[in-house]
Amino acid sequence: MLTDNHGRKINYLRLAVTDRCNLRCFYCMPEEGLNWLSRKELLTYEEMLRTCHLLVKMGIEKIRITGGEPFVRKDMMKLLSALSKIQGLNELTITTNGVLTASLVPELKRIGVKSVNLSLDTLDANRFFAITHRDEFDKVMETLDQLLKYDINVKINAVVMDGKNTQDIIPLVEMTKDTPVSVRFIEEMPFNGEGHIYSGLKWDYKRILDEITAKYPAIQKLHDESYSTSYNYNIPGHKGDIGVIAAYSRTFCGTCNRIRITPDGVLKTCLYDDGVMNIKDIIRSGFSDDELKAKLQEAMNNRAKDGWEAERNRALNDPAHESMATIGG
Ligand code: SAM
Repeated sequence: MLTDNHGRKINYLRLAVTDRCNLRCFYCMPEEGLNWLSRKELLTYEEMLRTCHLLVKMGIEKIRITGGEPFVRKDMMKLLSALSKIQGLNELTITTNGVLTASLVPELKRIGVKSVNLSLDTLDANRFFAITHRDEFDKVMETLDQLLKYDINVKINAVVMDGKNTQDIIPLVEMTKDTPVSVRFIEEMPFNGEGHIYSGLKWDYKRILDEITAKYPAIQKLHDESYSTSYNYNIPGHKGDIGVIAAYSRTFCGTCNRIRITPDGVLKTCLYDDGVMNIKDIIRSGFSDDELKAKLQEAMNNRAKDGWEAERNRALNDPAHESMATIGG
């Protein structure tokens, strides 16, 4: 079992496989995109697989593939298929924007992917374009249909943004009436690659919940799993449920079980830290598995208590503003 210096079990890895994306969500990156990583700066699939095999031996039970948009990286299904065969890995999941995903759903099902997080901030095609700067709403909805058809659990991630999509909160909740999805509302964080100025959080988890409760006073609290980052609810009679994620308020650090690896191999033991070691450099300088393992354990032994401490520990004058696409949201 992998534990950190605060006694927290670490069993969940979020692996960002690329920083590139085919959408330009304004809250994630500037419209012109980012200064993309070159191919040689990226972890190769072999390096990812080696690291994942090792981490699973150390205690990781769940891996989420994220990015950037995972499916813009070539041969992504090959990586997923190889990961799905790792002995001891209980769960392989993906976070995707759904633009390129619909046709891949049967293959995802075949290799054993049981749940997918689909990012969808609005049910209105015009607002989708205004937020993402791309006309891809129909493709995302097609992916949703396919995932449901193939009986893959779907969690919809909706970032709540003042003046952009708060009118979508109730329609997204309404969607849970007949559709067995979990709609999770996420507080907007400052990770926007400086595409716009983050002027503080206007819709925190309490305000989001108040908005929902005003419309659905019968809303019921559900039991939250011990490592859940969302407060979970259900509207009686609805097939799906609702979650609210205090991503900026950081109320869940006490039970945080996750680590992250960025597309260029940086290990982050907290979303808000600026990286604690570079796995790619270590691998490329010829470290053995045992040496890499020792380095990984050392990183766990020095984990920040919470996201506030991690942010304070960042290099001077470097507040958390990098794009979520370079971190693996
Ligand atoms: N491209 C994939 C997708 O869109 O699902 C995976 C990567 S994306 C960075 C992962 C998640 O991070 C998405 O649900 C996105 O909405 C969320 N995200 C990105 N920037 C964010 C921000 N500034 N605040 C909150 N969530 C953010």
